[in-house]
Amino acid sequence: MDQATRFDVIIIGTGAGGGTLAYRLAPSGKRILLLERGDYVPRERDNWETRAVNLEGKYNTKEVWRDREGEALHPHTNYYVGGNTKFYGAALFRLRREDFGELKHQGGISPAWPIGYEELEPYYTEAERLYQVHGERGVDPTDPPASGPYPHPPVSHEPRIQALADDLARLGLRPFHVPLGVMLDEGNPRRSRCIRCGTCDGHPCLVYAKSDAQVVCVDPALEHPNVTLLTGAHVRRLLTSASGREVTTVVVERDGITEAYSADIVVVSCGAINSAALLLRSTSAKHPRGLANGSDVVGRHYMGHVNSVLMALSKCPNPTVFQKTLALNDFYFGSEDWDFPMGHISFVGKLDGETLKAGAPAIAPGWTLDLMAKHSLDFWLTSEDLPDPDNRVTLDRDGNIVLAYQPNNEEGHRRLIAKLKALMTQQTKCRVHGHECHEGLFARSLFLGQRIPLAGVAHQNGTIRFGRDPRTSALDPACRAHEVDNLYVVDASFFPTSGAVNPALTIMANALRVGDHIRARLG
Ligand SMILES: Cc1cc2nc3c(=O)[nH]c(=O)nc-3n(C[C@H](O)[C@H](O)[C@H](O)COP(=O)(O)OP(=O)(O)OC[C@H]3O[C@@H](n4cnc5c(N)ncnc54)[C@H](O)[C@@H]3O)c2cc1C
Ligand code: SF4
Repeated sequence: MDQATRFDVIIIGTGAGGGTLAYRLAPSGKRILLLERGDYVPRERDNWETRAVNLEGKYNTKEVWRDREGEALHPHTNYYVGGNTKFYGAALFRLRREDFGELKHQGGISPAWPIGYEELEPYYTEAERLYQVHGERGVDPTDPPASGPYPHPPVSHEPRIQALADDLARLGLRPFHVPLGVMLDEGNPRRSRCIRCGTCDGHPCLVYAKSDAQVVCVDPALEHPNVTLLTGAHVRRLLTSASGREVTTVVVERDGITEAYSADIVVVSCGAINSAALLLRSTSAKHPRGLANGSDVVGRHYMGHVNSVLMALSKCPNPTVFQKTLALNDFYFGSEDWDFPMGHISFVGKLDGETLKAGAPAIAPGWTLDLMAKHSLDFWLTSEDLPDPDNRVTLDRDGNIVLAYQPNNEEGHRRLIAKLKALMTQQTKCRVHGHECHEGLFARSLFLGQRIPLAGVAHQNGTIRFGRDPRTSALDPACRAHEVDNLYVVDASFFPTSGAVNPALTIMANALRVGDHIRARLG
């Protein structure tokens, strides 16, 4: 191979994992190649149009996957520089310390991680600094210990959300400010890069004020002359040496042409579903079940959280613009009347009529979609789903992705919804409508039923789990493949369990940790 195709490190995928790793390794001076199948998100008005983004799905991949029954699945995922962080809500949570140990759920056991919280803690602190997280420690009762404060003050609540926070506190709960990666300076609005708009969650940021992996990591990494990015570079297969112990060739399709690249170290970070698919596609005599898959765990244990979007309607309008500032973890590990974990309550970005049209919402009697959206508090509920080997990514005969998933551990989630319903009836009486103001909870019912459907793969994780035992995991605790010396995985695939908070900060912190390991190895 010549100089143009030979590198020290190749990173495949530029999202939360790959982008953050590139940032970490860039100052090393090593020759680094980033391969990204997508392009940059175009900067255009539609970035902030809910019709284009939510109703028309303008930026979603048009790729079609299959479900267990062979039915077409149109995944809500995005292939761009920065990966899904271009579209995320930037709620940047640490997993709870207990999430790293074994936890007993109503639906079964959530197994322990091969590393403890303490090992990741310094990297969480660094990731919070890098992604400019705005938050407040010591209020969330489940907050794990941290070695320092958040780098920026929390994002303030707008009046309707503050009223809800006051109500919840009056009921003896401990609502807190969501830790957010937005470049907002409320003390100096004229200079603030973020303008606190209503189209953050689910949308790219037109003014580059969201801490996404492109803006925060990939662009700065590319200022180093030793870092190269190829966009439109779809990695199709990884080839190994005759022994099967090293990846020798990364096969890429770019503009319809097949190209080959090589590196001392190859890092896969395509997102949990695509990374598993890539390894499964890379079969060989030494790896007949797929690369690094002697354990047969690659593609298995797919998790994506049990999630619901629930709208609480009131007669009074909810004029909030930036809604995703409040969360509640009081029921994360259970409650007085339930001994098992239930999960996390927070918000989605403010819904509007266009967004509601994207599904088949249950319309409350006497309301229109527009009216519902103007009067709703729009909650996002997350509970942990457990790793089940039969929930898995496989390939069909043509090499296309098949995603089989049977939800589990749902009772805690149902109880979490019931808790929220009960809390909503205890809101302060409104001065105009009295208690009649609060009309109860309605499932957004995006696609039949109140759960986020299978196509909602936003929180995908778990398909190439790390662990100490090569019989039950594909990666070692440093996220290196047990069976392939120079292969690492740093996206959400490595999670052995999903916890019940959003995954991105854990992916970023782990990428920094693995980055240190790779740097030490490269010398
Ligand atoms: C609408 C939305 C809102 C979200 N909100 C939050 C939130 O508030 N907080 C939070 O923590 N998380 C949130 N998430 C989830 C978060 O974005 C993901 O957990 C995170 O981006 C996953 O990081 P990753 O590195 O695993 O994969 P990704 O970020 O998906 O990156 C994978 C990259 O690999 C590229 N790729 C894939 N296949 C190939 C291939 N074969 N060759 C080359 N390149 C390839 C993709 O184009 C992509 O750039 C949200 C997600 C969505 C969609
Ligand atoms: S301006 Fe701020 S609130 Fe709006 S999309 Fe950008 S980061 Fe989000």
